[in-house]
Amino acid sequence: MLAPTVQNNVLIDRYGRRVDYIRLSITDRCDFRCVYCRSEDMSFLPRDEVLSLEECARLVKIFVSLGVGKVRITGGEPLVRKNALWLFEEIGQLPGLRELVVTTNGSQLEQYAQALRDAGVKRINISLDSLHAERFRKITRVGDLDKVLRGLAAARQAGFENIKLNTVLMRGFNDDETINLVDFAIAQNIDISFIEEMPLGEVDHTRNSTFISNDTTLKLLQQHHTLIPSTESTGGPARYWRIPHTNTRVGFISPHSHNFCESCNRIRITCKGELYLCLGQEDKVDLMPLLREFPYDDAPLIEAILGSMQIKPKGHDFDLRRAEPAVVRFMSVTGG
Ligand code: SAM
Repeated sequence: MLAPTVQNNVLIDRYGRRVDYIRLSITDRCDFRCVYCRSEDMSFLPRDEVLSLEECARLVKIFVSLGVGKVRITGGEPLVRKNALWLFEEIGQLPGLRELVVTTNGSQLEQYAQALRDAGVKRINISLDSLHAERFRKITRVGDLDKVLRGLAAARQAGFENIKLNTVLMRGFNDDETINLVDFAIAQNIDISFIEEMPLGEVDHTRNSTFISNDTTLKLLQQHHTLIPSTESTGGPARYWRIPHTNTRVGFISPHSHNFCESCNRIRITCKGELYLCLGQEDKVDLMPLLREFPYDDAPLIEAILGSMQIKPKGHDFDLRRAEPAVVRFMSVTGG
């Protein structure tokens, strides 16, 4: 096996993949309870087990010094964390950081969109699984569609370089809205990505019963729209198609039907400071003890992060035929 390398302070794993993208979850709390993401009753972490915003900022600065150019802030719902804006302001202008982006359910955007843009957030992903208010509530268990749509309007008004909807299609829940959702994205001049449901954590349904392959979704869309494959990438796992004469790209994030691990450039940090090397595997390094034991010395953290490159797995291993989830962590824990 090849040894991991640090070349000019960049992170490269033992398979030669350059890691330059971190997803940092700043809270495990969320104001929604999406049926595919978590169980209805979840307990949340006590405050002292969660990274402080200062610790989050310190980690981001260290990763940027190690060549990470893209940072996604996620959760839980990142914008329900008190003072979350402080973190965006603190890291938004870091030299070396190319892109600060956020994934949100949109519920707080009406209030925060402009401030996020001013802080330096370039792109924003908004999760939206239905355009029917009642169904939206059923999928999110508690969400208010109107509030999210007002949040989207505020984001458009704030002038982000790019806004993208993220949709998880589920058979029997919202698969009849595929075309409507794309038409909505076209009307809004924004992008949309379809994410295949992943077996992360135990939920009320079997994943196999709701799974829809993105190949099926693409074929359906091709009956209604011309789709031109694009080589464009936003540095994440989505493969994009353009719809001519519109400003909309349709992305497909297909962990099942098109495994994207060979080009994986990402690692994830939970709000507990666990550095997960793969969304679908258990390999991790705990950064919290080092953050707290060495508040003024970054060297032990840097050593641990460099060492983590040795255990980044080759790929995830999702198999929907298995009864148990691929990993027991909910997406809301690892950070989507
Ligand atoms: N609260 C924010 C939001 O709603 O976007 C950020 C966190 S959420 C966990 C991030 C993304 O993960 C959302 O787009 C959500 O739809 C997606 N997600 C959650 N659980 C998933 C699963 N089991 N399979 C596929 N996508 C999932």
